Amino acid sequence: MGGLSESATLALNSRAKKMAAEGKTIYNLTAGELATDTPEYIQTAVAKTLQLNKYTPVAGLPDLRAAIARDARQWYGLDWIEPANVVVTAGAKPAIYASLLALINPGDEVIVPVPAWVSYNDLVELAGGLVVPVPLTDDFDLDPAAIAAKLTPRTKAILINSPHNPTGAVFSGNALEELAKVLQGSGVTVMADDIYSKLVYEEGFTPVPTCGFEKVVIINGFSKSQALTGWRVGYVIADKTVAGAVTSLLSHITGNAAVPSQEAALAAMARHDKPPAETLEALKRQRQIVYQALEAIPGLKVHLPGGAFYFFIDIRAITNKSAEWCEDLLMQAGVALVPGEAFSAPGFVRLTFVADEEILKKALEQINKFIKKDTDT
Ligand code: PMP
Repeated sequence: MGGLSESATLALNSRAKKMAAEGKTIYNLTAGELATDTPEYIQTAVAKTLQLNKYTPVAGLPDLRAAIARDARQWYGLDWIEPANVVVTAGAKPAIYASLLALINPGDEVIVPVPAWVSYNDLVELAGGLVVPVPLTDDFDLDPAAIAAKLTPRTKAILINSPHNPTGAVFSGNALEELAKVLQGSGVTVMADDIYSKLVYEEGFTPVPTCGFEKVVIINGFSKSQALTGWRVGYVIADKTVAGAVTSLLSHITGNAAVPSQEAALAAMARHDKPPAETLEALKRQRQIVYQALEAIPGLKVHLPGGAFYFFIDIRAITNKSAEWCEDLLMQAGVALVPGEAFSAPGFVRLTFVADEEILKKALEQINKFIKKDTDT
């Protein structure tokens, strides 16, 4: 525990909020969440259930598990998914941690493609595993050959998150199918973190669990798709051994996810967990504004993200010290971004494109001015 530090993204977010509270003009583009309120339809549904106060089964309300299973069978085309394979959790984070504890023994290896979401390394290590980082390709796709080269008899799992935090990349069907061949017969479990799977902006998205992997544990939740980050409701879909182990563990540490949050999830499932259409439209517009502005700034290299709500900007032409650069950007230009160091990728910075369009434009002007001044001096 001594080696554990607070999630870098949460820490930066609170620092930027504190500076804003002190009266400074801050453009905070660090958050990993939507800016909208709880969707109206969820507020209405949950308001009718506020009298409910009792424990639910640890694995979740039977109706919710059934709805998640039904939807996942259809979405992924996987016949093995039954309500008994679904465990509802207090957010996706405990879903990942409990699944890792269920899957690995101390000293087992877990492949983590990098850049990687902040919490993966800590969660794997807390669960007693060894992180084996494998770089994505230059255009942020999975690299099946590089992963194949890192497989050992101790490899137990690989964490695949598509759409991907921090890059916003949607991994290609080709790379995923190639990886399925590489993993054939290896006994390695693919942990598919599908938390952004409902926030996709282009045709042709291939969900990870549809690619023919022999062993899959699916992680998902309502934080990103329904703007419910603070409500804490996620889930695991796994074979019955893993689902049972996860349930036993949670019975001792969190118990069931909060009842109103499960009711919110039930309301979302009645709409197949589809984000409100206006949310997706706004995100698409914001993505476009940021993309055009970033492309026009000399020294930056960007990819158009296919999903989630992040740009992962290559600033290596300016510096590799992205933590220092982000610090200066915040202090001198009032723009908060997350340095790539938080994702094991120095020389990059993450920008969340969730903000009013005017705010985004101003923030990008500030970044442009900051870089010009930096390169002029
Ligand atoms: N996985 C990824 C890739 C994420 O970005 C996040 C949230 N930042 C989570 C899991 C955790 O989601 P939750 O808030 O539901 O625990």
